[in-house]
Amino acid sequence: MTTPRTVTDFDYPAPSLYIDGEFLTGGGRCEQDVLNPATGQVIGKLPHATTEDLDLAIAAASRAFESWRKVSPMERSKVLRKVADLARERARDIGRGITLDQGKPLVEAVNEVTFCAEHADWHAEECRRVYGRVIPSRLDNVTQLVMREPVGVCAAFTPWNFPFNQAIRKIAAAIGAGCTIVLKGPEDAPSAIVALARLFHDAGLPRGVLNVVWGIPAEVSRHLIQSATVRKVSFTGSVEIGKQLAAQATSLMKRITMELGGHAPVIVCDDADVDAVVDLLTPYKFRNAGQVCISPTRFYIQERVYDRFVSNFAEKARTIKVGDGLLPETKMGPLAHARRVAAMRSLVDDARARGAEVLTGGSSLLGEGNFFAPTVVAELPDDSRLMTEEPFGPIVGVARFKTIEDVIARANGLSYGLASYVFTNSAKSARTLAGHLEAGMVSINHLGLGLPETPFGGCKDSGMGIEGGSETFDAYLNTKFITQLY
Ligand code: NAD
Repeated sequence: MTTPRTVTDFDYPAPSLYIDGEFLTGGGRCEQDVLNPATGQVIGKLPHATTEDLDLAIAAASRAFESWRKVSPMERSKVLRKVADLARERARDIGRGITLDQGKPLVEAVNEVTFCAEHADWHAEECRRVYGRVIPSRLDNVTQLVMREPVGVCAAFTPWNFPFNQAIRKIAAAIGAGCTIVLKGPEDAPSAIVALARLFHDAGLPRGVLNVVWGIPAEVSRHLIQSATVRKVSFTGSVEIGKQLAAQATSLMKRITMELGGHAPVIVCDDADVDAVVDLLTPYKFRNAGQVCISPTRFYIQERVYDRFVSNFAEKARTIKVGDGLLPETKMGPLAHARRVAAMRSLVDDARARGAEVLTGGSSLLGEGNFFAPTVVAELPDDSRLMTEEPFGPIVGVARFKTIEDVIARANGLSYGLASYVFTNSAKSARTLAGHLEAGMVSINHLGLGLPETPFGGCKDSGMGIEGGSETFDAYLNTKFITQLY
């Protein structure tokens, strides 16, 4: 077992709150340690919002809404475009912060920022196309109009796996629609969110339109959701927490968007080019150490190509260089926090107890960081924990299947319905699988999910509502019907 190399000398930007246009620290507020997951070292102190801070943030967002809702989409678009330009300029520094507090390799972190500049660009374009419509009337002296109006103050909760990505999508959709927002980011990985607040601040976003708070997640979310001023709740995270927040919000008749977990099936048919599929899937699976809601996690391989796929995939997984994300040779960093390492161990223990074969990995790596080896497990039953619970880590379960009907039933057998992947050279199999898989997104013969211009979202327990695509503003707009006799 190797000890991954780590880096101990670096600068980490001081985290802060951002309320009513002010970056706030200190002030006797309670603070939380921010840890580097590669070393376990404390790298920063994150100030928690007091109850007064939360109320100030809500009040600022409410005040700002009265003017921001009237700002023309052309002007909103200019702010978003400026944010995109600044994000590209600052990508390297923001990326370093992400590697330090979240763990992913620097290249992935910087790519996250530059790619997300496109989310700002997309929302800048689309917000100028939020159209209403005129409905032909039954009477010649009546006009019937459909207007789309911003919902109001939004509360958003974003996770640590893609801290920049998850937050910018919610912020850009809210403010592009004319809403204002109070966002609680991930306390484990706060630097990207503070950097985002700085981007919007420097791009000229008026004070109060965006506010950033931190704290004990359950306390902050309860306080924000219960505020009568907050009209919409958007959350990205686990199914369990999503259901709790959705219940709180809908009991108060607030709009919700829930981007929750997944357990993406990957279906590789006998007629696929197995070597090409392995080359494509290996880096994709272990990207961000598998802590990706659309990560391929349950591999169903058809009988004839099963042995070849499994041995090639395990071989490639074994060669992935694990280490501190700041080191240039690193291909996979640590898990974001120690909870995930414990979760990986317990999935492997369950698989072993059921007689499964661990082809590579299966254990944490030596050292202080949260390192877990890329892991491939074969010959495990469909009811094992790895095949039924979202793993959210660098681990894959592989099983064989006989027929398309058999694999559709097994892929649809869980309550998740986020992403799914299909590899086949048969147009008929591709159509059948695309039509029958219960998932918000199906990617066939390539990896094509998560672009700004395409809709992102799940069905079943994986959530409700769409981010991205031309649907992106739907969740932030009320539809108002106006009929006028003249
Ligand atoms: P968790 O469920 O405790 O937390 C997940 C996220 O939700 C974190 O960002 C956390 O700060 C936030 N959160 C937790 N309780 C909250 C509350 N009451 N109110 C508001 N926000 C709250 O789990 P975790 O150990 O941090 O992460 C592991 C699980 O989270 C994974 O199994 C995965 O399913 C899920 N997750 C999903 C995504 C995603 O992109 N869908 C991202 C990160 C984590």
